[in-house]
This record gives sequence, C-alpha cells and structure tokens, in this order.
Amino acid sequence: MKLYNSLSKKTEEFKPINPDVVTMYTCGPTVYDYITIGNFRTYTLSDLLDRALAYNGYKVKHVINITDVGHLTGDNEGAADTGEDKLEVAADREGKSAREIADFYTQHYMKDYDKLNLTHPEKFTPATEHIRVMIELVQKLESKGLTYNTPDGVYYDTSKFEEYGKLSGLKPDSVIEGASERVEPNPHKRNPTDFALWKFSPEDKMRWQEWDSPWGKGFPGWHIECSAMAQNELGESIDIHVGGEDLKMVHHQNEIAQSEGATGKTFVNYWVHGAFLKVDGGRMGKSIGNVYTVDDVEAKGFSPLALRYFYMSAHYRSKLNFTWEALQGSANALKKLYDLVEGYNEDADAKLDVEYTQKFEEALNDDLNMPQVMAVMWEMLKSDISEADKLKTLAHFDTVLGLDLVEHIGFEIPEEIKKLAKVRWEYRKQGIWDKADVLRREIEEKGFTIDDGQNDYKIRRK
Ligand code: AMP
Ligand code: ZN
Repeated sequence: MKLYNSLSKKTEEFKPINPDVVTMYTCGPTVYDYITIGNFRTYTLSDLLDRALAYNGYKVKHVINITDVGHLTGDNEGAADTGEDKLEVAADREGKSAREIADFYTQHYMKDYDKLNLTHPEKFTPATEHIRVMIELVQKLESKGLTYNTPDGVYYDTSKFEEYGKLSGLKPDSVIEGASERVEPNPHKRNPTDFALWKFSPEDKMRWQEWDSPWGKGFPGWHIECSAMAQNELGESIDIHVGGEDLKMVHHQNEIAQSEGATGKTFVNYWVHGAFLKVDGGRMGKSIGNVYTVDDVEAKGFSPLALRYFYMSAHYRSKLNFTWEALQGSANALKKLYDLVEGYNEDADAKLDVEYTQKFEEALNDDLNMPQVMAVMWEMLKSDISEADKLKTLAHFDTVLGLDLVEHIGFEIPEEIKKLAKVRWEYRKQGIWDKADVLRREIEEKGFTIDDGQNDYKIRRK
C-alpha cells in the first residue's frame, strides 16, 4: 500500500513497525460546539485509511482523542499560548459547566460519527482522563532541559530541539504568519515558536477544569495532550498520524518536538494530512453562516451516507468544495446505486470478479485514490459480468466504501406492499385512476415507489 507522507513529501510504500498491527492516531475534535462537515471530512479520511489497512490484512490499533480541555482560541492562529480555553468560553456562553459542554458535544459527535458509518477506533481518549500522563511527559521534558517557566505557564524551548521545523518548515526564530498581526506577542517567550506545555489557572477567575501540578494549579496545553495520549496508548513510535492540513504547521510540529524531545525516538513514521473542505468556494465560518453539521444535512432531506459518498468523490489531498447542489449530485448517484443493487438477482454460486477486484485494490492502495475506486465500481456495474457476480463484488468493495450496500442486496419487498401494488395495477388496468392514485400514495407513505411499464410494474424502495 502506498501512502503520501507529509514529512518526506513523498508517496512511500507503507511498512508498519510491527508487521501485523498498525498503530494509528487521529487528532480528534475539540468538543466545545457541534462538529462540522469539515471536521468529518478528516474523520472520514481516517476511517477510510483504517478500513483500507484492514482490507490489506492488518490489525489496526487506532486511537482518536477527544479534546475536552486546553485548546485555546489562539492555538489555531499559531500562537499556542494565547486566548481562552474553548471549553470555558462555551460554558460561559451556554450557562453550563465545562463538563456538561464536553459531554453534550461528545455524545452528539458519536451519533454523527455512526451516521457516517465511521469505524470505531480501538479507543476514543478524552484529554481530561490523561492529565497524569501529560504532567509526567512535561516533567520528562523539564528533566532534559527543554522547558522554562514564565508567569503564565511552563513553555517548550523550541530552539533546544534541533529538528524543530522538520515538518512545518518553521524555525524557532520564524515569524509565524498571521499570528503577528492578530495576536499580541507573549513577552515572556524566548522564541516565537515556543509554546505552553502547562498553563497556570488565572488568579482572577475560577476555571471549571484545573489540576494540581508540580508547577502550580492549571491545565495542559493542547499539543501535549496528543503527544501524551499517543505515547500512552500506542507506544513511543507509531506508524500513522492523521489530521487536517491546518494542524501540520504548528500542532503536529509541536507534537514531534515534545514526543521526540522526550524519547529521542522517531514519533511517527507516516504523517497523513487531509485537505480542507470548503463551502461555496470559500472558508467555512460562523460569521458567514455556512458552518454546516450532519444535522443540517439531514434537515435538508439528505442521508448522511450521501455526504460520505460526496467525501469520496475527491482525493483526500485535494480541496473539496461543498455546495448543496454537489451534495444532491452525490445523493442521486447513491440512489442510483441502491436502485441497481435492489434490481439484481442473487445467486449462491456467485463469484468475486478477480479483474475488477484487482483494479479496486490498485486504486485503493495508491494513496487512497477514492475517486478512482468509485470509477472502478461504476465500470464494474456497467460491465457484462453477471448480476450475481456484481453483487458479490460490490459487497466486497463495500467493506471499504461503507455505503450500506449490503443492506440493499437481496432486498425483499414486504408482502403488504406487493398486495397493495397488485390491487393498484388492477384499478389502473380498469381505468379507475382515483383509486389507483390513493393506493400509490399509501405505498409511498410506507417508503416505496412504483415504476409503471407497458405491461408490468416495478416496486422500489424510495
Ligand atoms: P478541531 O476541532 O478544530 O481541533 O478540529 C478537529 C479536526 O478537524 C482536525 O483534524 C482539523 O484539522 C479538522 N478540520 C477542521 N476544519 C476542517 C475543514 N474545513 N475541513 C477538513 N478538516 C477540518
Ligand atoms: Zn492532536
């Protein structure tokens, strides 16, 4: 299997550390608000990678974290030590405790996660349940002389980590683009790229979430959370780390500095970054009013799996532009797929088509080329192999596609619907149109639809 590695900037043959078990870590959501369809593009990438690895015979040990403390508003602006904790801000906004905020949005995330048929990792790890390992990791960095204390926290001295910048290209004395204009520089920092490992609680405000530490009461920095959880759950060196492209510059570079600074070992062998989802050609933003969630998708009458189909229409390293029209296109394609599958006849002697399966694997293993995978699937369906072989092959592909195609295979029309349709057909033949129409409506209300032909009719699921 080939994967593009953002560290080497090359497509490489994937070789796991342990030949049987692949270790994989995905930067999960900060649970201070609803998770967007942008975030879910990234989680669909980690799901597809997880499924593709399993398809290739690996056991996958995958961990996704839940950031429920410490992610500051300034973190995404390249100033990892400024701004306010997003969870505390949300608690103020909604008049709840930070715990209630985290629990609510985590539960909602899990529901959406399942709606998109995303594979459950071995563990979802909330940051607040790993505070002790974070403190230990900071102590280790401190003992190696890589940290310094300021009035507001314990910082990482990036100039002491020789390889700082190997992922992001940023050097400790670099001016971080954007940060300089938007954020007041922290006067206590030695280098612009230094970042907080442990922040002290403010003296004038009671925080919802704070812990004692050797340096004083406070809370962990966002970056240390991922280094500590990845190491604790998966080991000092892991195979794959996944996240959105926005995390590469600062968050992941800092994870490398922390993990490798502490252990002296390579932290991650393959860095996989997904391109962003755009909306209407631009950024998704609260102020623009285009921050969409899976709920919004459903409210407009779309199945979450149409969104999953849409994600797979682009390569994960290409930008993908979300519009409602584009989603409609994916929904139509998915419906066509279901209709085809429902119309095919099964046969116990069906065979997996070797030629198309090989093409499918080539595309999948070529750095998860999902648009090509989908093209192979449609080509197979249009080919002249038998219907039964198509079903068998499609069911096999669906272990990766995750489009619930299997549920539509061998799909039985309930007897009740068959009877209603038969009576309707009789009315129709006799020209009793009003009664025929009443029955059509009744059938549609039960989730089915009828295509009338010259001498026959066909019942389909709506
Ligand atoms: P956050 O909750 O901001 O920590 O983001 C969680 C994950 O979603 C990270 O891996 C981000 O890189 C990713 N992400 C955020 N916005 C988008 C977007 N518009 N498209 C794709 N991934 C995104
Ligand atoms: Zn992370």
